[in-house]
Amino acid sequence: MNKYTMRLLYNLLGSRDLKVAALKAMEALRIPTYRIAIDTNNTCNLRCVMCYMSLDEYRGKPEIMSMEMFESIARQVLHKTRMLDLSCSFEPFMTKNFLDYVRVARRYYKGYIGICTNALLMSEEVINSIIDEGLLDEINISIDGITESTYNSIRTNGDFRKLVEVLSMLKNARNSRRGGRLPIIRLNYTMLRRNIEELDAMYDFAKKYDVNIVQLRHAKLTRPFSHMFGESLFFHQELSDAVVERVRRRFDAGSGMTLIHPPLFSSRKPRKVTRAACAYPWFNFIISSNGDVNLCYIGSMGNISRNTFREMLSSELVVESRSRLLRGDYKEVCRNCYSVSDMEEVHDKSTFIREDLMPNVSAP
Ligand code: SF4
Repeated sequence: MNKYTMRLLYNLLGSRDLKVAALKAMEALRIPTYRIAIDTNNTCNLRCVMCYMSLDEYRGKPEIMSMEMFESIARQVLHKTRMLDLSCSFEPFMTKNFLDYVRVARRYYKGYIGICTNALLMSEEVINSIIDEGLLDEINISIDGITESTYNSIRTNGDFRKLVEVLSMLKNARNSRRGGRLPIIRLNYTMLRRNIEELDAMYDFAKKYDVNIVQLRHAKLTRPFSHMFGESLFFHQELSDAVVERVRRRFDAGSGMTLIHPPLFSSRKPRKVTRAACAYPWFNFIISSNGDVNLCYIGSMGNISRNTFREMLSSELVVESRSRLLRGDYKEVCRNCYSVSDMEEVHDKSTFIREDLMPNVSAP
């Protein structure tokens, strides 16, 4: 069962209580349930205009997770894991020999492994190893423009020509080597006023490079990026809806590629994904390169160099947060969540703009 089917099933279970009951039943039957995201470093080669990595004051000392720590995590949690993302907030290929980490993960775990990357550091040799050794199931590539000028204007230090070279290499390798159709290639596109109209050409672009999935997201802008607030599509709702609707029709009429997008601003359908029904703290853990383990977007449960994962599960933060959520107290517990509202709450300005918030670099 792939991660998209899993997500569908999870969302079909309407309430938090039902989701938690299902997760507990699976655990009792020793069926893996965890979704683990691990960043093996805390750096990026790009300085994208809406990312805190573009701000000098938010870039910490570069840090690479030791292989010893990574292996300890793998030993402790991968037998309970259903989905593993080997990057979350940073660029995985900034870790030297990143594929060695993936190889260790593969030794402990045969399930789904994905990464998020800007792809610009991927060489032909790396791509061939990924495919020949069956290392990854999915590669999510961030691409916020499909012309050189737009892409390069958003992804500072990026190089659109290099990006399309990598997409071509991935296409050729997937078609000619033994991996068959894996890994899945997904393009993640963060929508802004300056790049929304380029989406009209997205179907043909994705088809050209044999992409499987295109996911559209709205940009979320915090206080240091106030000069960009006017680019938020919250202020260009008619244009955004018209473009997304056209793109959707194009993907529906075509074949073989999936488009995932936020609801239209004009949509009045009830939301499927809400904080009130979120059960992430029962299975979603995010591990930083320094070993901090975060309970979804709530906070740090401990550090893998000082505590075992089992100890962290009994920590006050985990026990207290879960119990408050089961009592319905999510507004306070989830106040800083960047994750769960982003696809659904398009009528709420705070989904797009958080003037009250500085970027939170302690939680990914
Ligand atoms: S912080 Fe976000 S991910 Fe965590 S429980 Fe709340 S809504 Fe879910």
